[in-house]
Amino acid sequence: MTEKHYGGASSFGSKTKQKTNVEESPKSAIKVKTTPYQDINNSSDLNIEKLKQAGKIAKQVSEYAKSIIKPSVLLLEIAEKIENKIHELKAEPAFPINLSINEIAAHSTPSYNDNTKAEGLLKIDIGVHIEGYVADTAFSLDLENNEQNKQLITSAEECLNEAIKITKHNTELGKIGDTIEKTALKHSTLPIHNLSGHEIKQYELHAGITIPNYNNHQEIPLQEGIYAIEPFTTLSSASGAVKDGKPSGIYSLKKEGNARDPTARKIIQYIIENYDTLPFCSRWLVKEFGTRALIALAQLEQAGILHQYPQLIERSGAKIAQAEHTLIIANKEVIVTTL
Ligand code: MN
Ligand code: MN
Repeated sequence: MTEKHYGGASSFGSKTKQKTNVEESPKSAIKVKTTPYQDINNSSDLNIEKLKQAGKIAKQVSEYAKSIIKPSVLLLEIAEKIENKIHELKAEPAFPINLSINEIAAHSTPSYNDNTKAEGLLKIDIGVHIEGYVADTAFSLDLENNEQNKQLITSAEECLNEAIKITKHNTELGKIGDTIEKTALKHSTLPIHNLSGHEIKQYELHAGITIPNYNNHQEIPLQEGIYAIEPFTTLSSASGAVKDGKPSGIYSLKKEGNARDPTARKIIQYIIENYDTLPFCSRWLVKEFGTRALIALAQLEQAGILHQYPQLIERSGAKIAQAEHTLIIANKEVIVTTL
């Protein structure tokens, strides 16, 4: 998944997130199992091992996804198979598999009764976690043998490769963005300006720092930590930005609260126990509680307990490609966990 900036470029990388009514940080109100990473330089550290293991599984799952995704296969079937694969490999999805077609950049996952089929330019964004240690990776597929799709995909992949090459401890954030932007332009494409990569912490998919996809001239040096770099590319004639689309059915816990409805109460408990503050989707809860979960989810969103992510759509309706890897940035070493 990715991070959208509602407030424009000024919010990039700022420690305090831009305040909006839907995107406020939930952490203060919730007992999160978050603990700081211990000594990131020590490769024998168990956390590093779990991060690497999550990355390795995410890589395996990506390969598996490539083998099963064909034009006209139901997205629902693809999502279920991929998420089952993650469980089979003894890990958990860090968020619902995102399967986003054409102008939808991200935050799209099938509903429990979805009949959308794979087509066009498909973005596959996969999250894997082991005890909250997350690997976040994405790739794009051209399912209609289209030159423009291929150009966008090649560009996104090259942007990611070039960004990874220059990213290490103390690299300035603006320089990573600049590399992505220049590479995108070289391929006659545009980077999406208001989507970015992000820092990752335990049970916290979008934490603190954001990694820009264009040169925002930010001179902040990259600190040790875990980061996802995720360039998105679109046509040079497009707007190069996304807007919010329809509700995605992907949610995360925003704050703790009480519900009067017994199903809603059970669902809150289930979310806390199974997902913590990581994103989940209505499809997963329908599987557990039946379709009455949908009413409870709407109530919990209404009460401000859950945040529902909107789909993210290219403003001018142009197609978008994405590529993403997760990196461990240590003092003297960079490990791309999902490669
Ligand atoms: Mn991400
Ligand atoms: Mn992602």
